[in-house]
Amino acid sequence: MNAEIIAVGSELLLGQITNTNARFISGNLAEIGINVYYHTVVGDNADRLKETIAIAESRADLIIFTGGLGPTKDDLTKETIAKHLGTTLEMDNEAMVSIAAFFERAGRPMTENNKKQALVLSGGEVLVNENGMAPGMMYKNGDHLYMLLPGPPHEMEPMFQFEAKPKLIRLLNKEDVILSHVLRFYGIGEAELEDRLQDILDKQTNPTIAPLASAGEVTLRLTAKTDSTEHAWTLINAAKEEILERVGQYLYGYDDDSLASKAIDLLKAQGKTVSAAESLTAGLFQSELASVSGASAVLSGGVVTYNEQMKIQQLGIMPEFFGQHSVVSEETAAAMAAAVREKFNTDISVSLTGAAGPDAHGEQPAGTVWIGIASEQGTKTYRLQLSGMRNTNRIRAVKLALYYLIR
Ligand code: ATP
Ligand code: MG
Repeated sequence: MNAEIIAVGSELLLGQITNTNARFISGNLAEIGINVYYHTVVGDNADRLKETIAIAESRADLIIFTGGLGPTKDDLTKETIAKHLGTTLEMDNEAMVSIAAFFERAGRPMTENNKKQALVLSGGEVLVNENGMAPGMMYKNGDHLYMLLPGPPHEMEPMFQFEAKPKLIRLLNKEDVILSHVLRFYGIGEAELEDRLQDILDKQTNPTIAPLASAGEVTLRLTAKTDSTEHAWTLINAAKEEILERVGQYLYGYDDDSLASKAIDLLKAQGKTVSAAESLTAGLFQSELASVSGASAVLSGGVVTYNEQMKIQQLGIMPEFFGQHSVVSEETAAAMAAAVREKFNTDISVSLTGAAGPDAHGEQPAGTVWIGIASEQGTKTYRLQLSGMRNTNRIRAVKLALYYLIR
């Protein structure tokens, strides 16, 4: 089965929003072995939408639409598709009840155009919207399967995940089990990882192995397709063993793990607390830790000391210190980490200072980063020379600091 994703919305064409829906759906379809050959974006215009549908029908079996299911005049996806397929729209009672309940809860009267949201394609299947009013739809016509999803990602994503995807899997093959397992690596580049695994990657068909790199991390997604969960795991584990024999020293986690979640897990297990003094990253490191639920057991807090004056005032570093040392230096990283550890009374402290770029900081070239880690064993410092854009450098510095915490 191959698919085309059609995102409907003039705001996409105007560059006001990014087509994250196509990305999300594509990623999920790849997981279950459906090939996506085309992403299309079309404005809120019935004629151009019709044209787009006809083209998609000539080259895809599964056509997925997002957007334009709402109550306003510019929302015309289902009306246009109904006309195109020669079917009508009918009221879905369940959707109507939940829309009425929504207005009841909000204490607002329901308008006529809101009722329009409960209209679905006659002869289709409804996809329940747990997070909004417009239901999704699935409609089979000849060799084509049409799927209509709402535009807002917080409605579309769970609908796809929990309603649409299971139906697609069942449709693909009633007996097939498709299982994915992600291996997460840090400290090795994508090219080198692929190089070391080349023969495995070349010969592997079940599970398939898909590498992906982002901000200093590389992941391998292993996807097995077979007739039982047990057999799928056997296939995945065999491939995993072969991979880890070669690059196991770079593995830091699996599936939904992140460097931050691993750091939180580890420190929690050790009963340790952490604080941070951030210059370069201005809070990004703490924010990344705090994105993990349960972070409060580990993260005490920290300071953002962006300029020299605040490093003196907030961390108690002597003014003379900066007469001798650059703000971007090993000594400053060490002093910041030690000072914040004392101030916040934590087991471990992390500091980040650097020249994010594009400009150099005095004698320190753009991309120079110093990280300090203070613990009862003393203070360690690490230097890093990055060459990316300003914010990529800042994110990479955070990842590296997290990596030093879990190493
Ligand atoms: P609503 O009931 O909110 O009107 P809708 O199904 O009619 O939903 P749209 O009106 O097309 O959807 O889009 C609503 C909002 O959803 C957009 O303003 C945008 O924020 C988001 N959105 C729409 N399409 C996409 C997309 N392809 N990728 C990411 N976000 C999107
Ligand atoms: Mg809308």
